[in-house]
Amino acid sequence: MWTKSVLILVFIGSCFSYPSPTKRYDGHSVLQILPKTIGDVHELMSLAQKYHLDIWKSPRFLNETFDVRVNPEQIANFVHDVESLGLKAKQWIIDLQKLIDNTEPTRSRRATSFSTGAFNDHASINSYLDSLASNSRVTVHSMGHTYEGRTIKYIKISNNVGSSKKAIYVDGGIHAREWLAVSTVLYMIDQMAHNPTHDRTIETLLGTFDFYFAPVVNPDGYEYSRTQDRMWRKNRRPVIHGCNGVDLNRNFAYHWNPDNGGSHNPCEEVHSGTHASSEIETRNIQNFLCGHGNLLAYLNVHTYGQYWIYPWGYTPVLPADYRDLDHLGRTAATAIRHTHGKSFTVGEDTRVLYAAAGGADDYAKGACGVKYSYTVELRDTGLHGFVAPTSYIIPAGEETFAGFKAFATELIRYEHL
Ligand SMILES: [Zn+2]
Repeated sequence: MWTKSVLILVFIGSCFSYPSPTKRYDGHSVLQILPKTIGDVHELMSLAQKYHLDIWKSPRFLNETFDVRVNPEQIANFVHDVESLGLKAKQWIIDLQKLIDNTEPTRSRRATSFSTGAFNDHASINSYLDSLASNSRVTVHSMGHTYEGRTIKYIKISNNVGSSKKAIYVDGGIHAREWLAVSTVLYMIDQMAHNPTHDRTIETLLGTFDFYFAPVVNPDGYEYSRTQDRMWRKNRRPVIHGCNGVDLNRNFAYHWNPDNGGSHNPCEEVHSGTHASSEIETRNIQNFLCGHGNLLAYLNVHTYGQYWIYPWGYTPVLPADYRDLDHLGRTAATAIRHTHGKSFTVGEDTRVLYAAAGGADDYAKGACGVKYSYTVELRDTGLHGFVAPTSYIIPAGEETFAGFKAFATELIRYEHL
């Protein structure tokens, strides 16, 4: 038997009538398993492949959990296999559908009007970005289109629009179901574009850097997760009959390798694509990253796990300048902790435990020479996992933006800009 969960689902008054995604997860559980050794991690990865499980969180370091979603038919056999390894599986989320249902009423705020306190739909987000063009510091651009024809928009924020300073680029939503990543990038955009608190740090940063933000780089997947399948992760291109989508963050053309943390199988959540940069969304992001030679830093924002991690993802070998990346990451994590007390782990992507080739952060650094390239995994550590409630939106925005400002401020000092 596995340990019964301590999770108590918080019921939020369900007074909204709201169309839920069609696909249901009744009786699906999310299990947390604490591996004791690197060998355990590999065994768990093999088990996840055997059962075709949806891995929610791979441990990046020892003493961190492996979180995985299992359906009701699989759970007994899977738990038996886990226990045969001498490990315990704690049933953390008991009924995923209940968690979705009890969290989703807040989604009714998606409405047609944009709000930084809500999970907005893609059309509202693009309208909001367009509306920022009236701000003299903001220009609105397209990175290109998606498989389904949506426009991937980004904005540039600069106090001298014609200038080309060193630049920092932040994007979100490369994984469809990670809505908190999208809302957090939008929060940062709002602060940077409007500076509602007259924060002098923002003016200082704009004196040194240009900023680029793309809140939704996988809009087809994002919309699909809003309307059809809350747990959708990939893009939406049909790959083979019955299985759509490529994991864009395994598809980048720098040491691309499905056997290294990805998958050849189009039905898997981490399908790497048939070849490097096979996906139009990947190519759009790659073109953006390598097309802006002044990029000094890149934050690829995800949920969840509370990490600020740097390359390489494809190999445990550290980049030669890892001390610089580590120092700046720790500066950000300290500022995050001082905001709402959340601890973010800073480190290199694959060190010790986990490899994933074909990630955007590796590509930015390895192929385009963006020195300070990071994957940022936001809240939480598993309580809600990908099903973040709207009550997370503002505090996650605040702490991430505090980390971002501290990071950029320290970058000025550290790089003598
Ligand atoms: Zn992700």
